[in-house]
Amino acid sequence: MPTPAYDETNIFAKILRGELPCHKVYEDDVTLAFMDIMPRADGHVLVLPKSLARNILDADPGILGLLITRVQKIAVAVKSALAADGITILQYNEPAGGQIVFHLHFHVLPRWKGVQLRPHTGVLEKPEVLEGFCQKIAAALKAA
Ligand code: AMP
Repeated sequence: MPTPAYDETNIFAKILRGELPCHKVYEDDVTLAFMDIMPRADGHVLVLPKSLARNILDADPGILGLLITRVQKIAVAVKSALAADGITILQYNEPAGGQIVFHLHFHVLPRWKGVQLRPHTGVLEKPEVLEGFCQKIAAALKAA
């Protein structure tokens, strides 16, 4: 089954176009990164390419190469900003692979010993809580 075409009405495309808000932690020419609104862990960040790709299956390899360097930079900043013990990186492709929003993104999840991940798309977090984590991570990225 071929990968379906990119659908510009997806929610992350709207965030990238500035039509919907986000708690932005980082932006450059390649990437936008913001807080997941239904976090599986405190400080859960999503890292997206600005260029249009549905998921890893149709992404331009050159963009993927650039994007993974941003994932690394953000993972290092998240770990340091939130004094995490480790980081889990997740990335889903197509509905059968667990993907819900069809613009390529990586999940950066800070982890602490003994703390389990919460369910995928579980509970909507309060904006002020998201903004608190966002500010800490953005500050760590600026200082990097
Ligand atoms: P998936 O496509 O399976 O990686 O899941 C999409 C992820 O996006 C989930 O973790 C959602 O909590 C998250 N999400 C959905 N809508 C928004 C939004 N408007 N802002 C931030 N995160 C979102």
